[in-house]
Amino acid sequence: MPEDLRLVALETSPPAFTEGTAEMMAWDIFGVAGTAQLLYGERDQNFRIRPEGSDGIIFKILGPAEDPAAVDFQTAALEHIAAMDPTLPVPRVRRTLAGEAYTRVNDNAGVPHIVRALDFQPGRIMEGVEPSRALLRNAGATLARLDRALANFFHPAAGQRIVWDARRAVELRPSADLISDSAHRALIGGVLDRFIAFMPELARLRAQVIHNDCHPGNMLVDPEQRAITGLLDFGDMIHGPLVLNIAVTAAETTGKNLSPIDYAAEVIAGYNAVLPLEDAEFPALFEAIIARHAMSATIHAWRRQHDPEGAAKLGSLSAASAPAIEAFLNAGRDAVVAKFRAAAASPETDRATGTLSAQLQTRRRHFLGRGLELSYREPLHLVRGEGVYLYEPNGGRYLDAYNNVPSVGHGNPRVAAAIGRQMATLCTNTRYLHQAVVDYAERLTATMPAGLETCLFVNSGSEANDAAWRIAKIVTGKRGALVMANAYHGVTDAVAALSPYCWPYARPLQPHVQALEAPDTYRGRFRADDPEAAAHYAADAHRAISALQASGHGVAALIIDSAFVSNGILDVPPGYFAAIAAKVRAAGGLVIGDEVQSGFGRLGDMFWGFARHGVVPDLVTLGKPMANGHPAGAVVTRRDLLEAFTDQIDFFSTFGGNPVSAAAALATLDILQSENLQENARATGSLLREGISTLATRHPAIGDVRGSGLMVGVDIVSDRSRRTPDADAAKQIANAMRHLGVLIGTEGPDGNVLKIRPPLPFGPEHATILLDALDRSL
Ligand code: PMP
Repeated sequence: MPEDLRLVALETSPPAFTEGTAEMMAWDIFGVAGTAQLLYGERDQNFRIRPEGSDGIIFKILGPAEDPAAVDFQTAALEHIAAMDPTLPVPRVRRTLAGEAYTRVNDNAGVPHIVRALDFQPGRIMEGVEPSRALLRNAGATLARLDRALANFFHPAAGQRIVWDARRAVELRPSADLISDSAHRALIGGVLDRFIAFMPELARLRAQVIHNDCHPGNMLVDPEQRAITGLLDFGDMIHGPLVLNIAVTAAETTGKNLSPIDYAAEVIAGYNAVLPLEDAEFPALFEAIIARHAMSATIHAWRRQHDPEGAAKLGSLSAASAPAIEAFLNAGRDAVVAKFRAAAASPETDRATGTLSAQLQTRRRHFLGRGLELSYREPLHLVRGEGVYLYEPNGGRYLDAYNNVPSVGHGNPRVAAAIGRQMATLCTNTRYLHQAVVDYAERLTATMPAGLETCLFVNSGSEANDAAWRIAKIVTGKRGALVMANAYHGVTDAVAALSPYCWPYARPLQPHVQALEAPDTYRGRFRADDPEAAAHYAADAHRAISALQASGHGVAALIIDSAFVSNGILDVPPGYFAAIAAKVRAAGGLVIGDEVQSGFGRLGDMFWGFARHGVVPDLVTLGKPMANGHPAGAVVTRRDLLEAFTDQIDFFSTFGGNPVSAAAALATLDILQSENLQENARATGSLLREGISTLATRHPAIGDVRGSGLMVGVDIVSDRSRRTPDADAAKQIANAMRHLGVLIGTEGPDGNVLKIRPPLPFGPEHATILLDALDRSL
C-alpha cells in the first residue's frame, strides 16, 4: 500500500476526548448545550450533542493529521448542494458562534485538532435493511439528484488521493497478493487487472465531484423503508467519473432476495430516471461494479495485516465480494449491460414517465390553450439536450435531425458559460456603451458582402423581419410587398400579412401583398429539364409588380427565404432569385433576404443563403440559430438605409443586442467558425443526400431529394411517375423514425416533404444512424 494514499490515516485511531469535554466544547464553540453521546468514527471522534427538544448536532473532533483543505472541501460541497437542491437530505454545516466552518482545540498533549459540527440527521441507517425495489430505485434517484447538484461544483481539494478512488487500482493491485485463499486471490487480482486495462475508456466518461461512498452505511431510510431520508459522510469525495459513484451504491446496496445483478439494475434504473446515463456508461458500470468489489476485498486483506480493527468493519463486505463478482462474470458483460438497459427503460420507469408526461400535457392544454400545437402523435417530453442528442425523463435518447436553432449543438457548454458569465456580470439595454454588442456587429458584418455594414438588434426572426419591412416602407415610401407563395416570415401583425403560410384556410392575402408562384422544378409548371424555367417563373414578378402598382401600393420590398423551406426546401433554378430581385429594384423596391433558416453556414457551400443565388440583399434578417437558442435577432443593412430609417423613427428594443445576447451570439459565431461547422454541414449534407438517393432506388415513396448542406428535403410521393404528394406517408415516416429514435419534421405546401435540419455538429456517424432509421421507416 503506497504511503501517500490516505488509507494510512486508518492506522491512527480517532482522538480520545471525554464526553464531558465534548459537551463543554459544544457549548463554548457552537452554543449547543446537551448531553454528549459517543458515536462510531473511523478517523474522526464523533459525538451527538442533544439538547432537549431538538435533534441536536454531530460534533466532530478530527485526527491531528487531517488537512484543513479537505474540511473546506466538504463544507463548500455541502453548502453548494444545499443551494442547488435545498430538499436533498444532506447534512447542513453548523457554523461556530464566530461564524466559522471549523475551529481548532488542543488535546492534553497540546496537539491541535480541527473541530466542526453538522446538524444531526434523524433516521435509520440503511445497513441491514432488505431493500425493496422501490427503495433501491429511490436510492439511485437520490444519488442522481446529488450528482446533479454537484455537477457545477469544484474545489482544489477534489483531486485528493484516496484509496477508495477506483482509478488507484494500479497502486492497490500489489495488495491483492495478501489475499490468502489462492482462488479468491486470482479472482480479485484478475478483476483489478481488467479494470486497469479499462481505465482509458473510463477516462473518456463524464466526470465531476462525486460522493464516492454512498453505501447503505451512509444512507438513512424512512420508517416504511421506501425512501432515502439522509446521505452521510462526504469524506471520500473526489473528482471522478460518475460511474464510480453509481457503482458504489449499485454494488453495495444488496440483500438476500435478489441476485447482485438485479439489485444493481434497480439502483441504476432509479438513477437513470433522474439523470439519464450515456450510452458508454452502461458497460463502464459493469466494470466499475466488479472493480468496487475487488477493491473492498483487497483493502480488507491489507487491513487484516496492518489494521485488524479497521478490517473488522470491512469483513462482511469483503465476504460478499467474490460471489458478487462471480455472478457478474458468469452472466457476462453483454447480458448484464442488456439487463441494466432494460431496467432503465422498464415499464415501471416508462409508466412513471408516461404518467408524468400525460399530466403535463393536461396542464399544458389548460394553461397554454389548445391551439399551441405539439409535434408527434404521442408528444415528446424532453428534459435535456447534448450535442445532437435529446433526452426524455426516463433516459430515452433521440438523435435530433430537426432542430436548427441549437446550431452549435444542444447545451453547448461554451455558449452556456458565456451566457452565465455575462448574466452574472451585466445585462442592460443598448443605450449604454458596451463592448460585446459592438464586437459582435463587427464580427457579423465581416461575414457579409461589402456594404452590409450596420446592424439593428432585436430578439427574434419575426422582429427582424418586422423591422426590415418598416425600414423598406419608410425608405421607399411605398407600401406593397412581393412574397413567395406559402412563405413564412414570422408572428407580428405586419409580418404575418407577408406570410401566406399563416393563412392555410385560403384567406385572401391583404391587398398590399402579392404572392409569387413558387419556382418548384419538381412539381411546378416548369420542370428541371426546362432551361428557361428560371425566366418563366421570374415572369410572375411582372404580374405581381403591376398589380401592386395598379392598386396604388407600389413596391416597397421583396422578401425571400433563400432556402425556400416552407415551399418544401426547393432547389430553385439558377438565376431565379437574381431575376426577381432585379425586377423589384427596377420598380423602386428593396430586397429583404430572410436568413433566419438559411444563414450561419447551414447551407454548407456558402455562409449566407443569398450568396448561393448570387444576390446581395438590401436588408438581411437573422434569428433562430444566431445565439444557439438564446433569443436574438438582427437586421444587417446598408448604412444609408438604416440611417434614413432612424432619422425618422426612434427605434429602440429593450432586449435587442443586450450584453447577454451579444455574448451568446459571439460565442455561437466563434464556435461556428473555429469548429468549421459550415464545412461539416457541406460534407455531411452531401453524404446524407447521396445516402437518401441510394435509398430511393429501393423505396419508390422517395420522389425527390433536395436542399443544400444540412438543410435536406425529401419529397414523399404515392406515385412516383405522377409525383403525387403523400402527406400521410410523410407523417407516418416521421412518426416511425421517432420510434426508432430519430427526430425529423415534415414541410411544404402539401406537408409531404421530410425536413431534415439537424444541429450542425451532425457528423457522418449520425448520418448513418438517420439513413438506417429512414430505410426501416420506409
Ligand atoms: N423567417 C423564417 C424563414 C422562419 O422560418 C421563421 C420561423 N420559423 C421566422 C422568420 C420567424 O422567426 P421567429 O419564430 O424566431 O420569430
